Amino acid sequence: AAPKIVVVGSVAAGTSAAAKARRGSEDAEIVVYDRDADISYSGCGLPYYLGGEVESMDDLTPRDAAWFAQRYDIDVRTGREVTGVDAAARTVTVRDLATGTTSTDDYDELVLATGVSPVVPPLPGTDADGVFTLRTPSDARAIRTWIESRGVERAVVVGAGYIGLETAEQLVGRGLDVTVVEMEAHSMPRLDADVADRVDDELTEHGVELLTGAEVTAIEPADDGAARAVRVVGRDGAEHLVEAGLVVVAVGVRPNLDLARAAGVRVGDTGAIAVDRVGRTSVDHVWAVGDVAESFDLITGEPTWVPLGSTANKMGRIAGDALTGGDLEHRGILGTSIVRVFDLAVAQTGLTEDRARAAGFDPVVVHNIKPDRPAYLGGQEMLIKAVADRGTGRLLGAQIVGPSGVDKRVDVLATAITFGARAEDLFHLDLAYAPTFATTKDPVHYTGMALD
Ligand code: FAD
Repeated sequence: AAPKIVVVGSVAAGTSAAAKARRGSEDAEIVVYDRDADISYSGCGLPYYLGGEVESMDDLTPRDAAWFAQRYDIDVRTGREVTGVDAAARTVTVRDLATGTTSTDDYDELVLATGVSPVVPPLPGTDADGVFTLRTPSDARAIRTWIESRGVERAVVVGAGYIGLETAEQLVGRGLDVTVVEMEAHSMPRLDADVADRVDDELTEHGVELLTGAEVTAIEPADDGAARAVRVVGRDGAEHLVEAGLVVVAVGVRPNLDLARAAGVRVGDTGAIAVDRVGRTSVDHVWAVGDVAESFDLITGEPTWVPLGSTANKMGRIAGDALTGGDLEHRGILGTSIVRVFDLAVAQTGLTEDRARAAGFDPVVVHNIKPDRPAYLGGQEMLIKAVADRGTGRLLGAQIVGPSGVDKRVDVLATAITFGARAEDLFHLDLAYAPTFATTKDPVHYTGMALD
Protein backbone atom coordinates (compact mmCIF):
# COMPACT_ATOMS: atom_id res chain seq x y z
CA ALA A 1 0.00 0.00 0.00
CA ALA A 2 1.11 3.58 -0.53
CA PRO A 3 2.83 4.97 2.56
CA LYS A 4 1.52 7.71 4.80
CA ILE A 5 4.17 10.39 5.10
CA VAL A 6 3.93 12.91 7.92
CA VAL A 7 6.16 15.98 7.73
CA VAL A 8 6.66 18.37 10.64
CA GLY A 9 7.64 21.86 9.50
CA SER A 10 6.40 23.62 6.41
CA VAL A 11 8.95 26.19 5.30
CA ALA A 12 11.90 25.31 3.01
CA ALA A 13 12.84 21.71 3.80
CA GLY A 14 9.44 20.31 4.77
CA THR A 15 7.64 21.59 1.69
CA SER A 16 10.45 20.42 -0.60
CA ALA A 17 10.31 16.94 0.91
CA ALA A 18 6.52 16.80 0.60
CA ALA A 19 6.42 18.08 -2.98
CA LYS A 20 9.15 15.70 -4.13
CA ALA A 21 7.48 12.78 -2.35
CA ARG A 22 4.31 13.57 -4.27
CA ARG A 23 6.24 13.55 -7.56
CA GLY A 24 7.68 10.18 -6.55
CA SER A 25 4.38 8.67 -5.50
CA GLU A 26 0.95 9.52 -6.82
CA ASP A 27 -0.91 7.77 -4.06
CA ALA A 28 1.10 8.36 -0.90
CA GLU A 29 -0.90 10.16 1.77
CA ILE A 30 1.11 13.27 2.65
CA VAL A 31 0.31 15.37 5.70
CA VAL A 32 2.38 18.40 6.75
CA TYR A 33 2.04 20.04 10.16
CA ASP A 34 3.22 23.51 11.10
CA ARG A 35 2.54 25.43 14.28
CA ASP A 36 2.86 28.71 12.41
CA ALA A 37 0.16 30.22 10.20
CA ASP A 38 2.71 31.24 7.54
CA ILE A 39 4.19 28.45 5.48
CA SER A 40 6.59 28.00 2.58
CA TYR A 41 7.82 31.58 2.93
CA SER A 42 11.06 33.16 1.89
CA GLY A 43 12.79 33.69 5.22
CA CYS A 44 15.74 35.05 3.27
CA GLY A 45 13.60 37.94 2.04
CA LEU A 46 12.43 39.05 5.48
CA PRO A 47 15.11 41.73 6.08
CA TYR A 48 13.99 43.47 2.88
CA TYR A 49 10.45 43.71 4.18
CA LEU A 50 11.81 45.60 7.21
CA GLY A 51 13.42 48.18 4.99
CA GLY A 52 10.53 48.34 2.54
CA GLU A 53 12.57 47.03 -0.39
CA VAL A 54 9.93 44.30 -0.41
CA GLU A 55 6.70 46.21 0.09
CA SER A 56 4.21 43.52 0.88
CA MET A 57 4.59 40.38 2.97
CA ASP A 58 2.38 38.63 0.40
CA ASP A 59 5.36 38.66 -1.94
CA LEU A 60 7.33 36.53 0.54
CA THR A 61 4.46 34.16 1.35
CA PRO A 62 3.16 33.23 -2.10
CA ARG A 63 1.82 29.76 -1.20
CA ASP A 64 -0.74 28.66 1.36
CA ALA A 65 -2.31 25.37 2.40
CA ALA A 66 -4.95 25.59 -0.35
CA TRP A 67 -2.20 25.89 -2.96
CA PHE A 68 -0.47 22.73 -1.72
CA ALA A 69 -3.78 20.88 -1.65
CA GLN A 70 -4.66 21.86 -5.17
CA ARG A 71 -1.26 21.60 -6.80
CA TYR A 72 0.14 18.56 -5.01
CA ASP A 73 -2.72 16.98 -3.10
CA ILE A 74 -0.73 17.59 0.07
CA ASP A 75 -2.65 18.19 3.29
CA VAL A 76 -0.92 21.09 5.07
CA ARG A 77 -2.33 21.68 8.55
CA THR A 78 -1.23 25.01 9.97
CA GLY A 79 -1.63 26.18 13.55
CA ARG A 80 -0.90 22.61 14.64
CA GLU A 81 2.06 21.85 16.85
CA VAL A 82 3.42 18.34 16.96
CA THR A 83 4.19 17.82 20.63
CA GLY A 84 5.22 14.19 20.79
CA VAL A 85 6.47 11.21 18.82
CA ASP A 86 6.09 7.56 19.65
CA ALA A 87 8.56 5.96 17.28
CA ALA A 88 7.64 2.41 18.31
CA ALA A 89 3.92 2.92 17.67
CA ARG A 90 4.67 5.28 14.75
CA THR A 91 2.37 8.00 15.96
CA VAL A 92 2.65 11.71 16.63
CA THR A 93 0.70 13.83 19.08
CA VAL A 94 -0.69 17.02 17.60
CA ARG A 95 -2.04 20.06 19.43
CA ASP A 96 -4.42 22.39 17.63
CA LEU A 97 -3.19 25.77 18.81
CA ALA A 98 -6.52 27.49 18.14
CA THR A 99 -8.67 25.12 20.19
CA GLY A 100 -6.07 23.64 22.53
CA THR A 101 -7.28 20.13 21.67
CA THR A 102 -4.86 17.26 21.23
CA SER A 103 -5.09 14.35 18.84
CA THR A 104 -2.96 11.49 17.58
CA ASP A 105 -1.94 10.80 14.02
CA ASP A 106 -0.10 7.80 12.65
CA TYR A 107 2.65 7.59 10.05
CA ASP A 108 4.64 5.13 8.00
CA GLU A 109 7.45 7.65 7.52
CA LEU A 110 8.02 10.75 9.65
CA VAL A 111 10.07 13.69 8.36
CA LEU A 112 11.35 16.20 10.91
CA ALA A 113 11.79 19.58 9.21
CA THR A 114 11.44 21.59 12.38
CA GLY A 115 14.19 24.08 11.60
CA VAL A 116 15.86 26.28 14.16
CA SER A 117 14.97 29.01 16.62
CA PRO A 118 16.97 32.16 17.22
CA VAL A 119 19.15 32.11 20.33
CA VAL A 120 18.37 34.80 22.87
CA PRO A 121 21.08 35.09 25.50
CA PRO A 122 19.76 35.06 29.07
CA LEU A 123 20.31 38.76 29.75
CA PRO A 124 18.25 41.12 31.86
CA GLY A 125 15.70 43.01 29.80
CA THR A 126 15.39 40.78 26.74
CA ASP A 127 11.67 40.47 27.51
CA ALA A 128 11.17 44.25 27.16
CA ASP A 129 8.89 45.47 24.39
CA GLY A 130 10.86 46.47 21.34
CA VAL A 131 13.30 43.54 21.61
CA PHE A 132 12.96 41.15 18.68
CA THR A 133 14.51 38.29 16.81
CA LEU A 134 14.00 37.86 13.06
CA ARG A 135 13.01 34.42 11.83
CA THR A 136 9.40 34.41 10.67
CA PRO A 137 7.01 36.68 8.80
CA SER A 138 5.34 37.45 12.16
CA ASP A 139 8.69 38.67 13.51
CA ALA A 140 9.21 40.90 10.48
CA ARG A 141 5.68 42.31 10.66
CA ALA A 142 6.09 43.01 14.37
CA ILE A 143 9.42 44.81 13.88
CA ARG A 144 8.09 46.97 11.06
CA THR A 145 4.95 47.84 13.02
CA TRP A 146 7.05 48.68 16.08
CA ILE A 147 9.31 51.02 14.13
CA GLU A 148 6.39 52.75 12.43
CA SER A 149 4.07 53.03 15.42
CA ARG A 150 6.75 54.22 17.83
CA GLY A 151 8.66 56.40 15.41
CA VAL A 152 11.87 54.58 16.39
CA GLU A 153 15.02 56.49 15.50
CA ARG A 154 17.79 54.43 17.10
CA ALA A 155 18.34 50.69 16.92
CA VAL A 156 20.86 48.24 18.25
CA VAL A 157 21.50 45.03 16.35
CA VAL A 158 23.17 42.38 18.49
CA GLY A 159 25.31 40.10 16.33
CA ALA A 160 27.16 40.87 13.09
CA GLY A 161 26.49 37.65 11.21
CA TYR A 162 24.69 37.89 7.90
CA ILE A 163 21.19 38.28 9.40
CA GLY A 164 22.39 41.04 11.74
CA LEU A 165 24.09 42.88 8.89
CA GLU A 166 21.16 42.56 6.48
CA THR A 167 18.95 43.92 9.23
CA ALA A 168 21.35 46.79 9.99
CA GLU A 169 21.54 47.71 6.31
CA GLN A 170 17.76 47.82 6.00
CA LEU A 171 17.30 49.85 9.18
CA VAL A 172 19.85 52.39 7.97
CA GLY A 173 17.93 52.49 4.69
CA ARG A 174 14.85 53.51 6.69
CA GLY A 175 16.82 56.36 8.22
CA LEU A 176 17.50 54.85 11.64
CA ASP A 177 20.76 55.32 13.52
CA VAL A 178 22.12 51.83 13.99
CA THR A 179 24.70 50.35 16.33
CA VAL A 180 25.86 46.78 15.71
CA VAL A 181 27.38 44.99 18.69
CA GLU A 182 29.55 41.93 18.00
CA MET A 183 31.38 39.81 20.53
CA GLU A 184 34.05 38.62 18.09
CA ALA A 185 36.84 40.88 16.90
CA HIS A 186 35.20 41.52 13.51
CA SER A 187 31.89 41.32 11.68
CA MET A 188 30.96 38.17 9.74
CA PRO A 189 32.67 35.86 12.24
CA ARG A 190 32.63 32.92 9.78
CA LEU A 191 35.08 34.82 7.56
CA ASP A 192 38.79 35.28 8.14
CA ALA A 193 39.64 38.57 9.86
CA ASP A 194 41.56 40.01 6.89
CA VAL A 195 38.48 39.67 4.67
CA ALA A 196 35.96 40.77 7.27
CA ASP A 197 37.97 43.97 7.80
CA ARG A 198 36.52 45.24 4.54
CA VAL A 199 33.01 44.55 5.72
CA ASP A 200 33.74 46.43 8.96
CA ASP A 201 34.87 49.43 6.91
CA GLU A 202 31.79 49.29 4.70
CA LEU A 203 29.50 49.35 7.73
CA THR A 204 31.30 52.30 9.26
CA GLU A 205 31.33 54.20 5.96
CA HIS A 206 27.56 53.89 5.83
CA GLY A 207 27.16 55.37 9.26
CA VAL A 208 26.74 52.18 11.28
CA GLU A 209 28.40 52.33 14.67
CA LEU A 210 30.18 48.97 14.86
CA LEU A 211 31.26 47.80 18.30
CA THR A 212 33.37 44.65 17.93
CA GLY A 213 34.92 42.71 20.79
CA ALA A 214 31.95 44.04 22.72
CA GLU A 215 29.30 42.31 24.76
CA VAL A 216 25.73 43.30 25.55
CA THR A 217 25.15 42.81 29.27
CA ALA A 218 21.59 44.09 29.66
CA ILE A 219 18.71 45.82 27.96
CA GLU A 220 17.37 48.71 29.99
CA PRO A 221 13.63 49.21 29.86
CA ALA A 222 11.94 52.60 30.12
CA ASP A 223 9.02 53.22 32.52
CA ASP A 224 6.52 51.82 30.00
CA GLY A 225 8.46 48.57 29.75
CA ALA A 226 9.81 49.27 26.26
CA ALA A 227 13.49 49.06 25.44
CA ARG A 228 15.29 52.35 26.01
CA ALA A 229 18.97 51.49 25.92
CA VAL A 230 21.44 48.65 25.70
CA ARG A 231 24.28 48.20 28.14
CA VAL A 232 27.46 47.19 26.36
CA VAL A 233 30.87 46.31 27.75
CA GLY A 234 33.26 47.47 25.08
CA ARG A 235 36.67 46.37 23.96
CA ASP A 236 38.14 48.77 26.50
CA GLY A 237 36.40 46.92 29.33
CA ALA A 238 34.27 49.97 30.11
CA GLU A 239 30.49 49.91 30.14
CA HIS A 240 28.59 52.07 27.66
CA LEU A 241 24.92 52.82 27.46
CA VAL A 242 23.67 52.83 23.86
CA GLU A 243 20.21 54.31 23.36
CA ALA A 244 17.83 52.13 21.39
CA GLY A 245 14.10 52.12 20.84
CA LEU A 246 14.50 48.85 18.94
CA VAL A 247 16.81 45.92 19.63
CA VAL A 248 17.18 43.06 17.16
CA VAL A 249 18.99 40.04 18.58
CA ALA A 250 20.76 38.07 15.83
CA VAL A 251 23.41 36.06 17.65
CA GLY A 252 22.69 32.71 16.04
CA VAL A 253 20.20 29.89 15.89
CA ARG A 254 19.83 26.47 17.44
CA PRO A 255 18.02 23.40 16.07
CA ASN A 256 14.49 22.67 17.33
CA LEU A 257 15.23 19.24 18.80
CA ASP A 258 12.22 18.53 21.05
CA LEU A 259 10.69 16.04 18.63
CA ALA A 260 14.06 14.53 17.77
CA ARG A 261 14.59 13.88 21.47
CA ALA A 262 11.07 12.49 21.85
CA ALA A 263 11.74 10.11 18.97
CA GLY A 264 15.13 9.18 20.43
CA VAL A 265 17.16 10.03 17.32
CA ARG A 266 20.88 10.63 17.56
CA VAL A 267 22.06 14.22 17.66
CA GLY A 268 25.52 14.77 16.18
CA ASP A 269 28.49 16.67 17.64
CA THR A 270 27.40 19.76 15.71
CA GLY A 271 24.22 19.90 17.81
CA ALA A 272 21.97 19.07 14.86
CA ILE A 273 20.30 15.74 14.05
CA ALA A 274 22.69 13.17 12.61
CA VAL A 275 21.46 11.82 9.28
CA ASP A 276 22.75 9.65 6.47
CA ARG A 277 23.10 10.80 2.87
CA VAL A 278 19.40 10.64 2.21
CA GLY A 279 18.18 12.08 5.48
CA ARG A 280 17.51 8.97 7.57
CA THR A 281 18.07 9.39 11.29
CA SER A 282 19.24 6.68 13.69
CA VAL A 283 15.58 5.68 14.33
CA ASP A 284 13.70 3.62 11.75
CA HIS A 285 11.14 5.52 9.68
CA VAL A 286 12.23 8.90 11.10
CA TRP A 287 13.95 11.31 8.74
CA ALA A 288 15.35 14.80 9.26
CA VAL A 289 15.96 17.54 6.71
CA GLY A 290 16.87 21.21 6.56
CA ASP A 291 18.26 23.42 9.29
CA VAL A 292 17.48 20.92 12.03
CA ALA A 293 19.79 18.30 10.49
CA GLU A 294 23.50 17.94 9.84
CA SER A 295 25.04 17.88 6.37
CA PHE A 296 28.38 16.61 5.18
CA ASP A 297 31.35 18.80 4.39
CA LEU A 298 32.19 18.20 0.78
CA ILE A 299 35.91 18.65 1.42
CA THR A 300 36.51 16.89 4.71
CA GLY A 301 33.62 14.41 4.46
CA GLU A 302 32.83 15.18 8.11
CA PRO A 303 29.38 16.03 9.39
CA THR A 304 28.87 19.77 9.40
CA TRP A 305 26.02 22.15 10.20
CA VAL A 306 25.54 25.29 8.13
CA PRO A 307 21.85 26.17 8.32
CA LEU A 308 21.01 27.75 4.96
CA GLY A 309 17.93 27.80 2.79
CA SER A 310 19.85 26.57 -0.23
CA THR A 311 20.84 23.41 1.61
CA ALA A 312 17.47 22.99 3.34
CA ASN A 313 15.70 22.87 -0.01
CA LYS A 314 18.12 20.33 -1.38
CA MET A 315 17.94 18.08 1.66
CA GLY A 316 14.15 18.17 1.53
CA ARG A 317 14.10 17.19 -2.10
CA ILE A 318 16.58 14.35 -1.56
CA ALA A 319 14.62 12.87 1.34
CA GLY A 320 11.34 13.24 -0.55
CA ASP A 321 12.91 11.31 -3.40
CA ALA A 322 14.42 8.60 -1.21
CA LEU A 323 11.13 8.19 0.67
CA THR A 324 9.40 7.26 -2.54
CA GLY A 325 12.04 4.96 -3.96
CA GLY A 326 14.30 7.44 -5.77
CA ASP A 327 18.07 7.32 -5.73
CA LEU A 328 19.09 10.94 -5.06
CA GLU A 329 21.82 11.28 -2.42
CA HIS A 330 23.22 14.30 -0.66
CA ARG A 331 26.76 14.89 -1.88
CA GLY A 332 27.66 17.39 0.82
CA ILE A 333 28.05 21.12 1.08
CA LEU A 334 30.67 23.85 0.94
CA GLY A 335 28.60 26.28 3.00
CA THR A 336 28.58 28.59 0.00
CA SER A 337 26.88 31.84 0.86
CA ILE A 338 26.60 35.44 -0.18
CA VAL A 339 25.26 38.54 1.48
CA ARG A 340 24.86 42.13 0.41
CA VAL A 341 26.18 44.66 2.91
CA PHE A 342 25.39 48.11 1.49
CA ASP A 343 27.50 48.43 -1.69
CA LEU A 344 29.48 45.25 -1.09
CA ALA A 345 28.76 41.64 -1.88
CA VAL A 346 30.40 39.33 0.64
CA ALA A 347 30.69 35.68 -0.36
CA GLN A 348 32.38 32.51 0.72
CA THR A 349 32.66 28.90 -0.27
CA GLY A 350 34.52 25.96 1.21
CA LEU A 351 37.13 26.35 3.92
CA THR A 352 38.51 29.61 5.22
CA GLU A 353 42.21 29.74 6.09
CA ASP A 354 41.34 29.24 9.75
CA ARG A 355 39.06 26.29 9.11
CA ALA A 356 41.52 24.71 6.64
CA ARG A 357 44.20 24.72 9.35
CA ALA A 358 41.75 23.39 11.92
CA ALA A 359 40.90 20.54 9.50
CA GLY A 360 44.59 19.60 9.35
CA PHE A 361 45.49 21.07 5.94
CA ASP A 362 48.68 22.98 5.27
CA PRO A 363 47.06 25.85 3.36
CA VAL A 364 48.58 28.02 0.64
CA VAL A 365 46.77 31.34 0.72
CA VAL A 366 46.54 34.18 -1.79
CA HIS A 367 44.92 37.58 -1.64
CA ASN A 368 44.12 38.72 -5.10
CA ILE A 369 42.72 42.17 -5.83
CA LYS A 370 41.31 42.44 -9.33
CA PRO A 371 38.61 44.43 -11.12
CA ASP A 372 35.52 42.62 -12.34
CA ARG A 373 35.72 44.48 -15.69
CA PRO A 374 38.21 46.85 -17.33
CA ALA A 375 38.33 50.32 -15.79
CA TYR A 376 37.12 51.81 -19.09
CA LEU A 377 33.75 50.11 -18.55
CA GLY A 378 33.44 50.89 -14.88
CA GLY A 379 35.28 47.89 -13.46
CA GLN A 380 35.64 47.84 -9.70
CA GLU A 381 38.07 45.85 -7.63
CA MET A 382 37.15 42.80 -5.61
CA LEU A 383 39.29 40.97 -3.09
CA ILE A 384 39.49 37.22 -3.54
CA LYS A 385 41.15 35.33 -0.74
CA ALA A 386 41.62 31.76 -1.83
CA VAL A 387 42.97 28.73 -0.02
CA ALA A 388 44.49 25.57 -1.50
CA ASP A 389 46.14 22.50 -0.02
CA ARG A 390 49.92 22.77 -0.34
CA GLY A 391 50.45 19.06 -0.77
CA THR A 392 47.92 18.26 -3.47
CA GLY A 393 47.19 21.71 -4.91
CA ARG A 394 43.51 21.08 -4.33
CA LEU A 395 41.41 24.18 -4.02
CA LEU A 396 39.82 24.33 -0.56
CA GLY A 397 37.92 27.57 -0.37
CA ALA A 398 37.48 31.21 -1.28
CA GLN A 399 36.16 34.39 0.27
CA ILE A 400 35.29 37.31 -1.96
CA VAL A 401 34.36 40.88 -1.16
CA GLY A 402 33.60 43.56 -3.71
CA PRO A 403 30.99 45.83 -5.22
CA SER A 404 30.19 43.78 -8.32
CA GLY A 405 30.79 40.47 -10.05
CA VAL A 406 31.27 38.65 -6.75
CA ASP A 407 28.29 36.32 -7.18
CA LYS A 408 29.62 34.95 -10.45
CA ARG A 409 33.15 34.34 -9.17
CA VAL A 410 32.05 32.61 -5.99
CA ASP A 411 29.82 30.26 -7.93
CA VAL A 412 32.56 29.42 -10.43
CA LEU A 413 34.94 28.69 -7.56
CA ALA A 414 32.29 26.66 -5.70
CA THR A 415 31.75 24.62 -8.84
CA ALA A 416 35.47 24.09 -9.31
CA ILE A 417 35.92 22.98 -5.71
CA THR A 418 32.92 20.65 -5.98
CA PHE A 419 34.58 18.83 -8.85
CA GLY A 420 37.90 18.58 -7.05
CA ALA A 421 39.80 21.23 -9.03
CA ARG A 422 43.39 22.03 -8.20
CA ALA A 423 44.55 25.63 -8.14
CA GLU A 424 46.35 25.16 -11.47
CA ASP A 425 43.11 24.06 -13.13
CA LEU A 426 41.53 27.49 -12.66
CA PHE A 427 43.70 29.18 -15.28
CA HIS A 428 42.50 26.68 -17.86
CA LEU A 429 38.77 27.31 -17.34
CA ASP A 430 37.23 28.67 -20.52
CA LEU A 431 35.25 31.53 -18.98
CA ALA A 432 33.09 34.08 -20.76
CA TYR A 433 34.78 37.34 -21.68
CA ALA A 434 33.58 40.64 -23.01
CA PRO A 435 34.73 43.90 -21.43
CA THR A 436 31.14 44.58 -20.39
CA PHE A 437 31.30 41.54 -18.09
CA ALA A 438 34.87 40.50 -17.30
CA THR A 439 38.56 41.00 -17.98
CA THR A 440 40.44 38.90 -20.56
CA LYS A 441 41.99 36.99 -17.76
CA ASP A 442 39.21 36.75 -15.23
CA PRO A 443 39.75 37.24 -11.47
CA VAL A 444 39.19 33.48 -11.22
CA HIS A 445 42.08 32.82 -13.63
CA TYR A 446 44.34 35.19 -11.71
CA THR A 447 43.46 33.43 -8.48
CA GLY A 448 44.58 30.11 -9.89
CA MET A 449 47.77 31.62 -11.29
CA ALA A 450 48.62 33.23 -7.96
CA LEU A 451 47.98 30.04 -6.00
CA ASP A 452 49.83 27.75 -8.36
P1 FAD B 1 12.55 26.62 9.13
O1 FAD B 1 12.50 27.67 8.11
O2 FAD B 1 13.09 26.97 10.48
O3 FAD B 1 11.10 26.02 9.30
C1 FAD B 1 10.77 25.12 10.30
C2 FAD B 1 9.27 25.15 10.53
O4 FAD B 1 8.93 24.09 11.41
C3 FAD B 1 8.77 26.43 11.19
O5 FAD B 1 7.67 26.95 10.49
C4 FAD B 1 8.38 25.99 12.58
O6 FAD B 1 7.33 26.75 13.12
C5 FAD B 1 7.95 24.56 12.31
N1 FAD B 1 7.98 23.72 13.52
C6 FAD B 1 9.04 23.52 14.35
N2 FAD B 1 8.71 22.67 15.32
C7 FAD B 1 7.43 22.32 15.11
C8 FAD B 1 6.52 21.45 15.79
N3 FAD B 1 6.89 20.79 16.87
N4 FAD B 1 5.28 21.32 15.29
C9 FAD B 1 4.88 22.00 14.17
N5 FAD B 1 5.69 22.83 13.51
C10 FAD B 1 6.96 22.98 13.96
N6 FAD B 1 19.45 31.08 3.74
C11 FAD B 1 20.12 31.20 2.57
O7 FAD B 1 20.53 30.19 2.00
N7 FAD B 1 20.35 32.42 2.01
C12 FAD B 1 19.91 33.56 2.59
O8 FAD B 1 20.10 34.66 2.04
C13 FAD B 1 19.22 33.48 3.82
N8 FAD B 1 18.77 34.59 4.43
C14 FAD B 1 18.06 34.48 5.58
C15 FAD B 1 17.60 35.64 6.21
C16 FAD B 1 16.88 35.57 7.39
C17 FAD B 1 16.40 36.82 8.05
C18 FAD B 1 16.59 34.29 7.95
C19 FAD B 1 15.80 34.19 9.22
C20 FAD B 1 17.06 33.13 7.35
C21 FAD B 1 17.79 33.22 6.17
N9 FAD B 1 18.27 32.08 5.54
C22 FAD B 1 18.99 32.19 4.37
C23 FAD B 1 18.08 30.75 6.12
C24 FAD B 1 16.84 30.04 5.61
O9 FAD B 1 15.73 30.84 5.80
C25 FAD B 1 16.70 28.74 6.36
O10 FAD B 1 17.84 27.96 6.10
C26 FAD B 1 15.48 27.94 5.95
O11 FAD B 1 14.32 28.65 6.27
C27 FAD B 1 15.46 26.61 6.66
O12 FAD B 1 14.31 25.94 6.34
P2 FAD B 1 13.77 24.75 7.21
O13 FAD B 1 12.53 24.29 6.51
O14 FAD B 1 14.83 23.75 7.48
O15 FAD B 1 13.43 25.35 8.66
